[in-house]
Amino acid sequence: MKLSCEPHDVIFEKGGTESSKDGGKKKAKAAGVSPGRVELSPPPQYIEERLTLYTKLKAEHDTLMAERAANNSRAIKVTLPDGKVVEAESWKTTPYQVACGISQGLADNTVIAKVNNIVWDLDRPLEDDCSLQLLKFDDEEAQAVYWHSSAHIMGEAMERVYGGCLCYGPPIESGFYYDMFLENNEGVSSNDFPCLENLCKKIIKEKQPFERLEIKKETLLEMFKYNKFKCRILNEKVTTPTTTVYRCGPLIDLCRGPHVRHTGKIKALKIHKNSSTYWEGKADMETLQRIYGISFPDPKMLKEWEKFQEDAKNRDHRKLGREQDLFFFHDLSPGSCFFLPKGAFIYNSLIEFIRSEYRKRGFQEVVTPNIFNSKLWQTSGHWQHYSENMFSFEVEKETFALKPMNCPGHCLMFDHRPRSWRELPLRMADFGVLHRNELSGALTGLTRVRRFQQDDAHIFCSMDQIEEEIKGCLDFLRTVYDVFGFTFKLNLSTRPEKFLGDPDVWDQAEKKRPEDFNTIDIQIKDAIGRYHQCATIQLDFQLPIRFNLSFVSHDGDDKKRPVIIHRAILGSVERMIAILTENYGGKWPLWLSPRQVMVVPVGPTCEEYAQKVKQEFHSSGFMTDVDLDPGCTLNKKIRNAQLAQYNFILGQYGEMRSDHLSSHLRRMWRSPQTHVNARSKQGLCFQLSSLMVTLLQRIKYNCQYLQWDLV
Ligand SMILES: [Zn+2]
Ligand SMILES: [Zn+2]
Repeated sequence: MKLSCEPHDVIFEKGGTESSKDGGKKKAKAAGVSPGRVELSPPPQYIEERLTLYTKLKAEHDTLMAERAANNSRAIKVTLPDGKVVEAESWKTTPYQVACGISQGLADNTVIAKVNNIVWDLDRPLEDDCSLQLLKFDDEEAQAVYWHSSAHIMGEAMERVYGGCLCYGPPIESGFYYDMFLENNEGVSSNDFPCLENLCKKIIKEKQPFERLEIKKETLLEMFKYNKFKCRILNEKVTTPTTTVYRCGPLIDLCRGPHVRHTGKIKALKIHKNSSTYWEGKADMETLQRIYGISFPDPKMLKEWEKFQEDAKNRDHRKLGREQDLFFFHDLSPGSCFFLPKGAFIYNSLIEFIRSEYRKRGFQEVVTPNIFNSKLWQTSGHWQHYSENMFSFEVEKETFALKPMNCPGHCLMFDHRPRSWRELPLRMADFGVLHRNELSGALTGLTRVRRFQQDDAHIFCSMDQIEEEIKGCLDFLRTVYDVFGFTFKLNLSTRPEKFLGDPDVWDQAEKKRPEDFNTIDIQIKDAIGRYHQCATIQLDFQLPIRFNLSFVSHDGDDKKRPVIIHRAILGSVERMIAILTENYGGKWPLWLSPRQVMVVPVGPTCEEYAQKVKQEFHSSGFMTDVDLDPGCTLNKKIRNAQLAQYNFILGQYGEMRSDHLSSHLRRMWRSPQTHVNARSKQGLCFQLSSLMVTLLQRIKYNCQYLQWDLV
């Protein structure tokens, strides 16, 4: 059952056509500069009608609850997480009262209760013997409840300002949003935010209690008859005869809850973004206005959040990609990136790095087709579930598709001749170009694209090799992430729900290793504390069965089934570039930097020599530029090069002699991780000769190892 406030976010945003550029702003512009809205007076009529019906039902409910408390109450035991047992009375004692019994401070700081592991309103009476947890804001579930409650506050303000129809208002990873339908294609403008925020502040000040009320579905259809979206939810999502609404102030919202005790629990609230989207993310449905907010139990936390947002904005890979001339997108191929020379250098450096590890780790690179007959996908099972995400077309009356992953192609390669146990583990690596048909509205920079490459590999091995191979994958992963300066966390997920294989195979696999898993999810943590999932290590017993793969075993059994380990470390190279750009904030470590050396001649007499120096670095494989702009002073050129994030800026001083020139080397090490041996390299003067090229080259290659040691 899905109600208004459930976090469907993930599902809806995927298909949504969000664009914060669009939304109300454009419309407001068309109509001239909007001065921003004010609270409607009189308020929309549905508010009063809804409240009248609610008040009547609530009175009946209160009577019933009072009767229950009077007649059915009995002594119950409430077990706290530390094992302590508190005496309570059923239908009377609330979690809040239990918290107060422990300490007022605890009661004040508790966001939400959990009763028998289910989130529960703090003021909702306990019904039976139970376990009780009291969650504070630092708990993820409590945060979701907190932000979800804040969405009601914003929803109340939205009704009072726009008078539209509220749709879904879930908490999201950071904050919350509420969608609203407005008649006549009206839009939302960021000029409206101050009015909304002020109204939210008023609502917070009033400490409006969140009241819970269970109501019959027919009555709810009557209550929400003014709002076809809530009616749709009731008709399509609610399968039980009754469901709950929550009230705060004049807002009554279809919602499963729970919420904080009252609106006063929200200490700081900010409305920061709006966009337009479609009902349930479907492009053929109504256009909705989405407003985003964030809230905290302490104004200081909001300040920190704002600072973080600012930082993240400055690091946005789309912004830096533009500024650093790395890549762009074009309307004629949405979701497929154009990497300019400097961006392509980063792209290729990443692939080269992985390639160098492949040579050490016994992976063999292969090249496989981009288009396959759909029969391949039918065999692999992707056609049935995934075909709508694939680009397919007809070739000589047969359906073909662009590959969205490499595994089926690798299975054909494994199967193309008989295989012996001696060949295993067979580690096939492929940087093949992949395509996935993402909705154009869902495409965002390099993080969601249609065309990408992965550092993809498939390890074909026998059952008894799984453990070693997984260890190898983890070691590979650590090596790569250490070079980037990422820490990471692993999440082992167990046997998949839709497990189709032979359970014996599984049991055997699980016995082989201490952890039983089929997938290891790896999340890396970037420089500003955000987590990203890039790598995967996944065991697959199914694909070898589907392709009927076999090898000849040690003892001559020629029907031995291999296991496939799917494995990627960068994941999508495109997405990894987005993450790295934001992680480094555009200050690239030397080995990845598209601007490694800038040669700055002091005056026109040095220009020829500067060209030669540039050529020397260039020939040694460095990304080198020379600044010959006659209209710029030396200091200005150095400043420009600094701003452009060159790793080395070589300014030439003194008299030029044919093979002897002193030069100043400015080290610009970037992130703290790369701050290695900075002392010895700062302000050094070198004789600019091939000796220096060798030295810089050594630094370039040392760089990886130096970083490695520091993480
Ligand atoms: Zn709610
Ligand atoms: Zn795969």
